[in-house]
Parts: sequence; C-alpha cells; structure tokens
Amino acid sequence: MSLVVMKFGGTSVEDAAAITRTAGIVAGRVAAGKRPVVVVSAMSKVTDQLLACAAAASRGDRTGALAISQRLRSRHRDTAAALIKDAKNCATIQTAIEREFEALDEVLRGLAAILELTPRISDLIVSYGERLSSAMIAEAFKEREINSIHVDAREIIITDSQYQKAIPQDELIDERCTRLVRPLIDAGLVPVMGGFIGSNEAGITTTLGRGGSDFTGALIGGALHADAIEIWTDVNGIMTTDPRICPDALRVKEISFEEAAELAYFGAKVLHPATILPAVRKNIPVLVLNSKNPANEGTRIISLAPHCRSPFKCIALKRKLTIIDVVASRMLMTHGYLKSVFDIFDKHQCPVDMVSTSEVSVSVTVDSTDKLPAIADDLSKIADVKYEGCKALVCMVGEDIRGQRGISAQVFAAIKHVNVRMISQGASEINMSFMIEESDAEEAVRSLHAYFFKDPDPEIFDVEARNATVAQ
Ligand code: ADP
Ligand code: ASP
Ligand code: MG
Repeated sequence: MSLVVMKFGGTSVEDAAAITRTAGIVAGRVAAGKRPVVVVSAMSKVTDQLLACAAAASRGDRTGALAISQRLRSRHRDTAAALIKDAKNCATIQTAIEREFEALDEVLRGLAAILELTPRISDLIVSYGERLSSAMIAEAFKEREINSIHVDAREIIITDSQYQKAIPQDELIDERCTRLVRPLIDAGLVPVMGGFIGSNEAGITTTLGRGGSDFTGALIGGALHADAIEIWTDVNGIMTTDPRICPDALRVKEISFEEAAELAYFGAKVLHPATILPAVRKNIPVLVLNSKNPANEGTRIISLAPHCRSPFKCIALKRKLTIIDVVASRMLMTHGYLKSVFDIFDKHQCPVDMVSTSEVSVSVTVDSTDKLPAIADDLSKIADVKYEGCKALVCMVGEDIRGQRGISAQVFAAIKHVNVRMISQGASEINMSFMIEESDAEEAVRSLHAYFFKDPDPEIFDVEARNATVAQ
C-alpha cells in the first residue's frame, strides 16, 4: 500500500468547516487504499498572533499579550466544540486546550516581567499554534472515520539549536520516524502531527522558520520513503505567478524540482524554499493541491521538466529586500577582496540573494534587517557602505531560458518604464532576476505576466481553466 504524506496549510485548517473538508480529503485517501501521514499547520493567522503576543509581552504589555492569548483560546475552544460532538472526547480535548493555554499564559507573564524576548522563548511561544491545531485535528478526524493518532512533532523532528531557523538532523529524524511513526502506520493508524516545530537533542522546542510546515512534510516523507508528498493549500497548485497579484495566473501542470526550488527561494510563498530537497534526494514526487478544490489535479513536481514552448514557467516576487552597496577603490586589481566582503556576511550568518560586481564596487541584496547595522559596521572597516531598503526581487523561472536568444530584451522591453537596479541571470540558467523598487513590483509582475503568458503552452499550463473563466 502506498504511503502518502499530506501536509495541510493554515487556510486548510482555518475553522471547523475547513477541518471537516480536510478530514474528507484524508478519508478519501484511506478509502483509496493509501496510508496517509498528516502534517498540519497552525490555524490561519495563529502564528502571526502568537508572535504579536510575544512582542506585546516583551514590551511589558502583559494585558495586551494575555488578551490576544484569550482570543486564541476562544477560537480553539469554539472550533473544537463545533468539530467534536462526542461529549467525552470533547471534554478531553477542551481540557488539553486549557492546559496548553495555561502554560502559554505562564510564559507570557514571565516574559512581561523580564522584558527580554530571546529566539528560544519566541520558538516556545509560536510552537503552541501547531501543538494546538494538531491535537484538535487528530481528535476531530476520529469522529470522521479516520483511525487517527496525535504525534508530538517535537519528538520526531530533531534539529540543531538555531532557534527560529533550526536545521533538521536527518539521521535522528530517520531514526525517530522508524521507531515512533512507522509502527503506527503498520498498525493501520493515521498519524497527525504539527508542522514547523521540532526540538533539539536536549528536548527544547525549536522551529524551522516561517512557512516551515511544508519542510516538515518533506522531512517526514523523506524519512519514511513515502510514495508521494502532497502539499494542500488554498490555490490550485503552483501558478504562473501569485494569483493575488494576477488573478488570471494559470496553474502549472508540471514543473521540475530545480524550477520549483528556485521559485520557492525567490519568494513564491506556495512552497517553503527547503521543501524540495528531502524529496529530490529520494526522488519522491511532490504534488501541490487545493483543499478548497480537491478534484483539481494541482501541480506535479518531477525530476525532469517536460519541454515547454514558453520560455518561462513562473514569475516570483520577493519583497522587503535591502540593497547593500560596498564601494572601495582598493578593490581595483586586488584578489581576495570579495572573499573579505563575503566573510562578513558569513560571520553574521546572513544569506545573500543576489550579487553584482564592478571594478570598484559590489552590490548585494539581503532580506534580513536586524543584522544590517552590525554588517554595515564590519563592512565599513574595509570599504564605503550604503544600504537602501524597500526593494523587491522579480525572478523569472523556466528551464527553457537556456540558450534562447533575445529573451532579456523581451523581459526588459515589457518593463521599460521601470527603473531596474540590479540584474542577474542565475548560474543554474533557469532563472533571470532583477531588483526594482518595491512600489513598482506588482505592476512589473503584471506587465511581464501579460507579455509572457498571452499564448501559454497548453501542455504545461492549465489553459482550459482560463478559457472557462473568460467564457463565463
Ligand atoms: P499555506 O497556508 O497553505 O501554507 P501559503 O499562504 O503559505 O499557504 O501559500 C499559498 C499562497 O502562496 C497562495 O495563496 C498565493 O497567494 C501565494 N503564492 C505566491 N506565489 C505563488 C505561485 N507562483 N503559485 C501559487 N501561489 C502562490
Ligand atoms: N504556522 C507556521 C507559519 O505560519 C508554519 C506554516 O504554516 O508553514 O509560518
Ligand atoms: Mg505555507
């Protein structure tokens, strides 16, 4: 029987109706003879609200923090009551919810007294979102004929101690999956666990970074050698661009691992950037599907992209970036200079998105703002440094950019009215990116989308869906 990891994002578990829909999808897989392992996010917006709670408490606003927590408590309590009809089961889950919120409030009160929010405490606070959703959903599934069992993801996803962006320890995760999850599946149970959260070897709670539930899904899928990983979200799959920017974006039927990884890294929120890796290593197909429209085929991510007659598959947009210009006439003809610049980014563990160099300057873009002053300080010891925020990176992805003549001319003609700050054609040859002002970004994406997807290849894109909308 084939094993499938099904990950449901925040909107797929946002309320009792969504959770009921999700249960129907899982029950459908069980009825089709599959063995699901379910990974769920926190209910939508809960992670943001927990972060707001933490921020309020760390400012000393104890009342404000506890008020947000109280609203979250009511939301979970009401959702559980709507989902679980059996009085005994409902009482059990309500007691568990109360216990979690008592513990959370205790942390918030402590934080409001000490006024220092460390990354470790932040992870502890946000972890409640997935802890609560997974426990409640596991219980709700039982009433919907799914033989489910709740598994605390922190016992399975073992990470290092880099709070807020912890690195999973593959071998330990493999061992935990084999010892603790596999026997449940073999016994015919459907394990339900929270995404995003883990713990270090000492058992202290960590998280995998925002959007990290996708990553959990892929890690579990990789460790259990799943036959497929399904990422259930609120759109029909990977689209030609964010449908919130272009409502006429088309579903991409198939995309390569490489293209999807590039897209995720460069801002397509639909997949967490690291998701693809564990799946690629084990050659496990990944599907992106819509929990509000489960009949849709979604997007299949496969190892080799099929040929596509359009040069691009997707346009991704990453906002809130900063350009750092490092200028030094000393750079002229010296070797080792770039190394000294990048050593500084390395020292601050700050990833760089894009780089461009000239005879006397190097410009890089980064998305972290909290480390900027310290980085600029170190850079100013070897060069003149300027940095400017509110930039956006537009990234055009497609296997078929390779060797296409005149493609850059077409890209820049489509956005000739926009001021472009930096340009890069990735070494992978499957992406072309450029940096512009954030205020120009959406309009630029719309212009590029209109130009490059006016005659889309029906083998690759769901053209029928667009035609059907136009005909309505
Ligand atoms: P989930 O809560 O299910 O993880 P996310 O909000 O993280 O969902 O990701 C889904 C959202 O990603 C969509 O609602 C859409 O607005 C956005 N998105 C950005 N780029 C794309 C793209 N190329 N294709 C599909 N969705 C995209
Ligand atoms: N709940 C976490 C977040 O909002 C993780 C996820 O949903 O993937 O970032
Ligand atoms: Mg997500």
